[in-house]
Amino acid sequence: MHEKDRADTESRIKEIKKKISKLGLICSGTLQKRKKTCGKPYCRCATDPRYRHGPYNEWTRYEEGRLVHRTLSSEQATRLEKAIANYREIQALLGEWRRESTAIILGIPKKKSG
Ligand SMILES: [Zn+2]
Repeated sequence: MHEKDRADTESRIKEIKKKISKLGLICSGTLQKRKKTCGKPYCRCATDPRYRHGPYNEWTRYEEGRLVHRTLSSEQATRLEKAIANYREIQALLGEWRRESTAIILGIPKKKSG
């Protein structure tokens, strides 16, 4: 790998680190708005889907290999949405970081597009 390519790759890694350092909360999983039945047999929701309660903000994620559900307030849901987006971004950035690292180790300059 040429000095110039290596310097370019290292500066891209520096950029990636800078972006990562700006991310705040990160969370995995998905956020869904769902209507639910309450489980009381005499409640209208038990027989008619139109009377289901909610919608509730439901966060589904894996924790230690098990699927976990949590109902969140709208304030929590707003923060979670951002945290999930941050997590996706950090994963994309880590992928880039990994590719740049591979290029340095193998000495293969990244193909220029365009
Ligand atoms: Zn009900």
